[in-house]
Amino acid sequence: MDTYNIWTIGCQMNKADSERLGSALDQMSLSSVESPEDADVVVVNSCVVRKSAEDKVTGMLTRLNGFKKNNPSQVIALMGCMVGPRQENLQKQFPYVDVFMRPQDYDPLLQLIGLKTGIDPDGCVGDLTATPGVTAFIPIIHGCDKFCSFCIIPYRRGREVSRTIDDIVRETKLLVERGVKEITLLGQNVDSYGHDFDKKTDLADLLIALNDVNNLKRIRFLTSHPNDMSDHIIDTVAQLEKVCEHINLPFQAGDDDVLERMRRGYTNKQYRALVDKIRNRIPTVSMSTDLIVGFSGETSEQFEKSVELLKDIKFDKVHSASYSVRAGTIASRTMPDDVSLEDKKARLKTIDDLQKDIQENLNSKLNGTMQEVLVENIKNDILEGRTKNDKIVRLGGIGNSIGEIVEVKIKKTGPWSLSGSIINSLEVLA
Ligand code: SF4
Repeated sequence: MDTYNIWTIGCQMNKADSERLGSALDQMSLSSVESPEDADVVVVNSCVVRKSAEDKVTGMLTRLNGFKKNNPSQVIALMGCMVGPRQENLQKQFPYVDVFMRPQDYDPLLQLIGLKTGIDPDGCVGDLTATPGVTAFIPIIHGCDKFCSFCIIPYRRGREVSRTIDDIVRETKLLVERGVKEITLLGQNVDSYGHDFDKKTDLADLLIALNDVNNLKRIRFLTSHPNDMSDHIIDTVAQLEKVCEHINLPFQAGDDDVLERMRRGYTNKQYRALVDKIRNRIPTVSMSTDLIVGFSGETSEQFEKSVELLKDIKFDKVHSASYSVRAGTIASRTMPDDVSLEDKKARLKTIDDLQKDIQENLNSKLNGTMQEVLVENIKNDILEGRTKNDKIVRLGGIGNSIGEIVEVKIKKTGPWSLSGSIINSLEVLA
């Protein structure tokens, strides 16, 4: 048993879980291969937040069944949000899957590989950090206590459990020693970090501790819930030099009745006031959001409230999706999925077209400006990085600057990214 392949779909948290598992498998002397067909162990890290994601997972598992017929010793593991506390139905549906693992529960697979290879898996996950590049994800809080009516996450990832500040700082230092320059702190609801501790602690305390880590250049965090975005957090983001001025603040719907049925716990007016407050205190902030169209009972007039909100706030990025019923959620039990597929598609198109124009316009204002960019990777001979505001920048200019913060003159802009030339390496100048 020498090789593995991890196929991942869904949120950044899933990507972080896959990186973490990959690192454990590396430590057990397995190596990653590109094709699942060539791997001794294939892991499918699943997402069920939307039906389209679940369908892709099912399609992948069906494909793997074909590979396994030719290679019966191949181990197939299903991980992530598709795996709930009871697995009998999944075992019936996918009898060729060898291991089922709930999110972050890597142990069943590691034990199985340990049995087959004689390598002791103990300790492979304990001190584990993600496989490092220039940037890395660090989960800081698992689960969610909010129980929005449309969402399956609390049932699959459980209640909120925060990692200690000491543990996160230790992992960050380890990552920085291995070359990481930027970390993204992850949680389904990252700004409720620490609410489960006895001693009063919040995300701001963690950001302050991380800001002191030597040679760490940037800190990001994802995803925030409007009700937990406290003044303390906003002020801390404004004050700390390493924390990037970018906040993803899902609003999900613009109409108050829809928001109430979604159990989001805020109104359109309260959301707008919060965005105003954030923009006043962090004038250079960029804002992104998540939005669902076609939730149960959403009328055309109610949908227009979402459109108005987008037009007024002008987000830098919008993650839009049409509503799909998730079995087991409050909405699946109590609310009909009564907006037609046709209407959902049309609403999604309206949002995507509008947002494309907004982003094109916002980004065009950056043409000719100088921006600080952390160069993250190279794709098809073009360097790529991001500004502190989370804008993707494609770069020409000085040699290979991966891992450096460079000064870039923006020469071209579009709705999804910017292009420019490196003028200086700020680290060489420093
Ligand atoms: Fe799901 Fe709501 Fe929790 Fe986000 S805050 S993970 S939408 S339950």
